[in-house]
Amino acid sequence: MENQAYIALGSNMGDRYEYLKKAILLLESHEEITVANTSSIYETDPVGFTDQDQFLNMAVQVSTSLKPLELLDECLKIEEKLGRKREIRWGPRTLDLDILLYNHENIETEKLTIPHPRMSERAFVILPLLEMDPNLMLPTMEKPLKTWLQSIPDKEGVRIWKQKNGEDVFALIEN
Ligand code: ATP
Ligand code: MG
Ligand code: MG
Repeated sequence: MENQAYIALGSNMGDRYEYLKKAILLLESHEEITVANTSSIYETDPVGFTDQDQFLNMAVQVSTSLKPLELLDECLKIEEKLGRKREIRWGPRTLDLDILLYNHENIETEKLTIPHPRMSERAFVILPLLEMDPNLMLPTMEKPLKTWLQSIPDKEGVRIWKQKNGEDVFALIEN
């Protein structure tokens, strides 16, 4: 499992917690994917299309021997298995799985862009990532991701919903 990737999970329909748990189990059940780390779960106000229910968001780190496009296909398959329908852009969903990072690679194809193009403006993505690796670097940025925290909007719309351990990730914001 030579490649390291980070994947963002989000759900705002039905039993959101159950969808997140099932998605992680489905990732882990793939022979070529190992879930190496998980963040806490955050409850977040919707951004983009705001007239919808609150989300649960989190991120996971995986080790995988899959290539980026194969990992994307697996993510799309899991979304479909868990009832994802695409009706409104950025609208309500049972499950969204987005690949945030894959090793230190920059990938730009029709189906896949890595780093995920909107990740650095999304508090609900950055907070769980920094919880897992406070010094994370993005291939497209000269400074570590944490230096971005000051400038991202919507931080107050992101709250711990289920804490993974005793550490208070919000110390990151206050500093
Ligand atoms: P956003 O991308 O802004 O978070 P979304 O997750 O709701 O929006 P989707 O409908 O889940 O968007 O995805 C649409 C398409 O985006 C996917 O079918 C996939 O081909 C493409 N895509 C491009 N880059 C990525 C990536 N890094 N991770 C997941 N999907 C991606
Ligand atoms: Mg998404
Ligand atoms: Mg998506």
